[in-house]
Amino acid sequence: MPVTSAWTEVSVPLMDLWSMYMDQPRDYPDDHPLLVDCDTKRSYTFAQIRDRSIAFGKGLKHALKWAKGDVLAFFSPNSIDTPIVNLGLHWAGGVASPANPTYTVDELAQQLQDSRAKAIVTQKQFLEATRAAAQKAGLPLDRIFLLGDARDESGEHRHWTEIDASDAWIQPGKTAIDPEKDLAYLVYSSAQGTTGLPKGVMLSHYNMVANSYQSRRFDIKTLNWDLDSQIGVLPFFHIYGLGVVLNVTLCTGATCVIMPKFDLQKACQLIQDHRITFLYVPPPIVLALSKHPVVAEYDLSSVRWINSAAAPLSRDLVVAVWERLKIGVKQGYGLSETSPSVHTQLQDEWWRFQGSVGRLLPNIEAKIVDEGGKEVKQGEAGELLLRGPNIFQGYWNKPELNKETFTTDGWFRTGDLFYVCPRGNFYITDRLKELIKYKGFQVPPAELEAKLIGREDIADVCVVGVWDPEEHTETPRAYVVLRADVEQSDELAKDIVAWLGERVGPPKRLRGGVRFVKEIPKSQAGKILRRVLREQAKKDDGE
Ligand code: ATP
Ligand code: MG
Repeated sequence: MPVTSAWTEVSVPLMDLWSMYMDQPRDYPDDHPLLVDCDTKRSYTFAQIRDRSIAFGKGLKHALKWAKGDVLAFFSPNSIDTPIVNLGLHWAGGVASPANPTYTVDELAQQLQDSRAKAIVTQKQFLEATRAAAQKAGLPLDRIFLLGDARDESGEHRHWTEIDASDAWIQPGKTAIDPEKDLAYLVYSSAQGTTGLPKGVMLSHYNMVANSYQSRRFDIKTLNWDLDSQIGVLPFFHIYGLGVVLNVTLCTGATCVIMPKFDLQKACQLIQDHRITFLYVPPPIVLALSKHPVVAEYDLSSVRWINSAAAPLSRDLVVAVWERLKIGVKQGYGLSETSPSVHTQLQDEWWRFQGSVGRLLPNIEAKIVDEGGKEVKQGEAGELLLRGPNIFQGYWNKPELNKETFTTDGWFRTGDLFYVCPRGNFYITDRLKELIKYKGFQVPPAELEAKLIGREDIADVCVVGVWDPEEHTETPRAYVVLRADVEQSDELAKDIVAWLGERVGPPKRLRGGVRFVKEIPKSQAGKILRRVLREQAKKDDGE
C-alpha cells in the first residue's frame, strides 16, 4: 500500500507565482525589508520588490517583445536583484532558467541552446564568459543584461533596471497564466540513472504554488516577520534556494540576508550582527558548524533551528551541533523534479528520529519498490516513487527519458533508496546511481561516510567505488580529510580501515583503502562531486 501523508489535504489555489507572492494577504507591512545584501547593506522592501518587478515585466514586454513561455537565463551568484528579475519575468509570462555560475563557457552555451533562451542576465564579472557562451549558442549579444551593482561602462549591455516601459504609449498588462500548463522554471539537473549533460526540469506555476502551500503547515507557520531572519546562502540557481529560501521570505516576511558566496567566518559574523534565527543550509555547512574552530568565536545563540537538505547528513553531525551550539538540525528531502520539498522533519520530532528526513508533506503519496517495481515489505529499502501536485512536468524535449522516469500509472521514480518506519518517518539510504557493487552486494557510500565522519580525527570524507582487477569487483575506498592538527600516516590509514571494519559487514569494508586529501570537492549546492574523486581514483590506480 502506498504511504500517504499524515496531514489533511491542503487546497492549492489555481494561480501563478507572481500573484501568489504579491497579491495575497500577508502579515507584514509593505515597507518591511525582505532582501538585504550582506556587503553593501542595500535592501528591498516588499513594496519595492512588487513595484520593480512590475516595471521590469513591463519593460520585457515592451522593449523585448517578451511572449508567454519565452525563457530568460540567469548566470549569477546570489544577488538581491535576482528575486526581482525573476518575479518580473513571471509577471511577463516568462520562464526562468538559472545556470550554475561555475559553469564553463561550453556548459553555459549548452544550456542556452537547449533551453532556447531569448536573453540572459549576468553580473559584470561573468560578462566575458557569458558573451563567449552567447556567441556559441547563437544568442545576440544585445540580449545580455546585467544585474548587481557593477555596470558595463562600454554601454553595450544594459542593466536590468534600464529595461522599462516608460516610453510606451500603452502600458503592457500582466500576462495571463494557465498555472497548470505554463512553466515558471526550467532548472537543469542530470536525471536519475543518466550520465552526461544536465536536462531541463519543467516546473509549472502550479507545481511551485502547490509546494509553497504544502510547506506552509510546517516551518512557515512558526515564523514571525518582526522576529525572524535567515541567511540566503543557498544558491538561487538551484531549486532549494528558489523554492525554499525565497519562498519562506516572501510568504512570512522573515528578512533574508543574501550572501553571494559562502564563507564560514563571514556567515558567523552575519548571524551575530543580524541576530539570524533560522538557517536553510546543505550538510557541508552543518559539518563546518559542528567542527570548525572559528564557530566558537561568535555568538550564534539567536539561531533557533537549522534545516538541512540536498545531500546526506549523518546523525553524528546532528548530535555534535546540538552539543556544541544547542541548535536543533532538522532534515528535509526533495529534488529539482519535485519543486522541491517532499519530506520534512517536525520541530518536535527531530531529536527522536535523528537521521530521518521526516514525514511526507500534505498531498503527497509515496511508494517504495524493488527492482521489479513491486512494493517492498514495511521497513525494507527500495526506490522511492512519488505522486503529488508538486511533481514536475517531465524533462524538456526528452520523450524517451520521460517514459522511463514515470511509471505507466503516473508515479515519478526518484532514483533514491529509502525505507520508512511504522510511524511514517522516512530514511534515505543512498542514491541508486551512487551504490557501490561489491560482488553483487550493494554498498551505500553515504552510510560509510556517516560512520567515518563520527571519528574525531576526520574533518570530511567521501567514499567511492574503485575497481579491483584481481577480485574483479568494485570495492569501497575512502578519501579522507584529516583535522588540521592530525598527521597523516600509513598506520592511521590502516587504523581507519580496521576501525570501520569492526562496525560494518564484510562487503562494506574499505578494501579499496584510505587516501588522504586536502579537501572533498563539493558543488555550491552542497553535494559531493563524486565524479571528481572517481577520476582521481583512476589516476591513483594508474588506469
Ligand atoms: P543531478 O541530478 O544533477 O545529479 P541532483 O540529483 O543532486 O543532481 P537535485 O535535484 O539538486 O539534483 O537534488 C536532488 C537529490 O539530492 C535527491 O535525488 C537526493 O539524492 C539528494 N537529497 C536531497 N535531500 C537529501 C537528504 N536530506 N539526504 C540525502 N540526500 C538528499
Ligand atoms: Mg537529480
